[in-house]
Amino acid sequence: MNKQNGKVQDIAALKKAYWREDVQARREALMPFLWQVVGKQGQIFGNRDKGSDAYVTNHMFFSYPGYNETLTGFADDARINSNDKKPNPNVTVLEWLKNRPDFHGDLAAFGAWDVIASVFTPERSHLTANAGYDPLTGIPMTPKLEMLNTLKAELPHVWGDEPFDAIQFYTAVEYMKANKPTVLYISLGETDDWAHGGQYTEYLDSAHRVDAYLKAIWDLAQSMPEYQGNTTLIFSPDHGRGKAPHKWKSHGGKIPDSRYIWMGFLGPDTQPLGERTKISAVTQSQIAATLAAFLGEDYAADVPEAGKPIADVLFCGLNSRVQGSFGACQSGAAALSPFGARARLCACGSWALARMSPFSDLTFHPRLIHTGVTLG
Ligand SMILES: [Zn+2]
Repeated sequence: MNKQNGKVQDIAALKKAYWREDVQARREALMPFLWQVVGKQGQIFGNRDKGSDAYVTNHMFFSYPGYNETLTGFADDARINSNDKKPNPNVTVLEWLKNRPDFHGDLAAFGAWDVIASVFTPERSHLTANAGYDPLTGIPMTPKLEMLNTLKAELPHVWGDEPFDAIQFYTAVEYMKANKPTVLYISLGETDDWAHGGQYTEYLDSAHRVDAYLKAIWDLAQSMPEYQGNTTLIFSPDHGRGKAPHKWKSHGGKIPDSRYIWMGFLGPDTQPLGERTKISAVTQSQIAATLAAFLGEDYAADVPEAGKPIADVLFCGLNSRVQGSFGACQSGAAALSPFGARARLCACGSWALARMSPFSDLTFHPRLIHTGVTLG
């Protein structure tokens, strides 16, 4: 990537930061937590060069349709076909969980992009959905939260529809400390904005920061008794992007490659299989049911149009191969599983979901651009 194609001012500095001769070393330089921790202790899907395909089932390949598919488990191209800030007519898996009679945990969503709140339709769902430049209220005010709210109001609004990721990430952290939600959803957006602006250095730097945020929230979870040892992290994008040298800046129906995405899972219910190879394709529409399955809930049974849970990331899934059904594992997993007590966590784990807008490492790993994979 250079000045012409990526507005790179200091190529030597960018190479020093992120370029390594070895592919694995490059990935780890860019996203060390993803590759050193999720890529070893969890699972990553989406490297098509290695026979692992991940894609969206909607035909839009832009944000709102991707968020809708991720959070409801199905594409709705007839109604979710723009990024307009309109209430989502569909019920997200968070709203579905909130309405389960036996579910009593807190659920909350944070988005840098202001449209994220609409995806959750808070006027109907009554979920906490804080997004864009809206101050966070409703929890005990701390000096840190007060400062974050002030920065939202006073920092230059470089993008009219979203603050920098740091502002909203640390707002979500304050909420997590205060309310200890069972499900915490975080959407970050800088990578997408910098890419649309064609600013490659900022694009990579923001992806690197997101990786640090994943580590920070994971470490925070492991330091809190409510989350330690029973929390799963899911990391995925709303869509992919096009290829270098030019189409990486964009995505959408005219850029077919932007249908390809990736997914990462880390937690006690997920076997440490690392980067997956030679397996069946997974789709964005499976994330909602997988999320519910980590909590012991069978979303797909109640919402037939939703994708099925990704069995490979669930200890229950491993057992389902033995028992022949997902439902059966809910009661019998502990007895059958070689992983013993851990299997029971399928039914009781709480977890945090962090996500970001798409990122793909264009210069350093061109084949992966097709996948939109953060496999850098
Ligand atoms: Zn975009």
